[in-house]
Amino acid sequence: MKAEIIAVGSELTNGAKLDTNSQWLSTELSARGIEVIYHTAVADSMDLMVWSLRVALRRAHLILLTGGLGPTLDDITRQAVAELLHVSLILDEDSLNHVEQMFQKRGREMPARNRIQAMFPAGAEPLVNPIGTAPGMWCEVPKLDADHHVAIGAMPGVPSEMKKMFLEQIVPRLPVGKKIIKRARVNCFGVGESDCEERLGELTARGNNPEVGITVHEATITLRINVVGDSIDECDQMIAETKQEIHKRLEHLVFGEEDEELEHVVLRTLSERRLSLSTVESGTGGLLAHRLTDVIEHGDLYHGGIVIPGGSKHWELLGFPENWFQSNPVASAETALEMARRCRQHFETDCALAVTESSPSESSGDAPPIAYVALSTPDGESVVPHQLLGDRSFLKSRAAKAALNLLRLQLNKP
Ligand code: ATP
Repeated sequence: MKAEIIAVGSELTNGAKLDTNSQWLSTELSARGIEVIYHTAVADSMDLMVWSLRVALRRAHLILLTGGLGPTLDDITRQAVAELLHVSLILDEDSLNHVEQMFQKRGREMPARNRIQAMFPAGAEPLVNPIGTAPGMWCEVPKLDADHHVAIGAMPGVPSEMKKMFLEQIVPRLPVGKKIIKRARVNCFGVGESDCEERLGELTARGNNPEVGITVHEATITLRINVVGDSIDECDQMIAETKQEIHKRLEHLVFGEEDEELEHVVLRTLSERRLSLSTVESGTGGLLAHRLTDVIEHGDLYHGGIVIPGGSKHWELLGFPENWFQSNPVASAETALEMARRCRQHFETDCALAVTESSPSESSGDAPPIAYVALSTPDGESVVPHQLLGDRSFLKSRAAKAALNLLRLQLNKP
């Protein structure tokens, strides 16, 4: 079975909004063995929508629409489906009651124009929207030819409403695909993309099942595992075996799975050991503190951070002696270590991380900027230099992640 997703809305085609609904729906459909072959984004125009629907009708067996079910003049999904099927719109009393009740709950009277939300193409089945006013709909298109049946599902554009409607009302109506597709992600840090690929060897060959793809975002490498199987259990088993193989080949470079970032892993491990943390950073614009304060769980273990802008002379807060920078550059191993030590004392924490990066004005000639990340803990100290190649915002992120990774590796030591 092949599916096409049509995201409706001029805000999607003019670039004001990103079509995240299609991405989410594709993942959900794939997991149920339904192959998504096209994503279409179409502006709020009757002609264009009917055109897109006609094209989709020929190439897909399932068409899922999102958006354009609101009460305003530019919300025309229901009219476009009616036009496609050559039927008229018919009022559904239950849906009208539902929309009226949604307004009553909010203490408002339903404007007359919302009546259109309770109208559906003749033959279509209304889908209740328990958390919004826009009901969805489901209809089976009369046979196009002997072996081409098409079903159309239309859902609201608001992602939370769309997801709920899909899971609760579209999924039970979907035919079960023959093959199940499942995905998983494994996250790594501390290695380049090509080096990673080399270590993984034939695991990353195209066309494998399981297939392992590599993507990189700000120095974090994500291995995307894609498996196709006859059952969920079979897919889960294949994913588990692939993960095991990845861990064997990449060892300590693997830090997490799915949406897990270095800061989640670090704070979780600190919590297991009942250790506290503070940070000091120069040149990263506070990105390290930002990452750590973004984590809600175990956030109390992070006692605070000091951010010193790159090129600043304001190092008094950490009590650096006035003559320190006469003999030590800001971006040096000595300064990074001293920052970590002083930070640990200042915040009275078990561990402290420091990052110091050469500011663009300090980098000489064509030499790439360098960052030093340092760690001070009850078990000892360490400092690591990092050559920073690439875009400035990427460098900051990489330096902040390198600091977190240093602590992660230290915490993992037996
Ligand atoms: P409502 O009556 O609740 O507005 P609707 O079906 O008319 O429902 P739209 O007006 O098309 O939905 O979209 C509502 C909001 O949902 C948009 O402002 C946009 O923020 C979000 N949205 C719509 N389509 C998408 C999409 N494909 N991906 C992500 N967000 C979307």
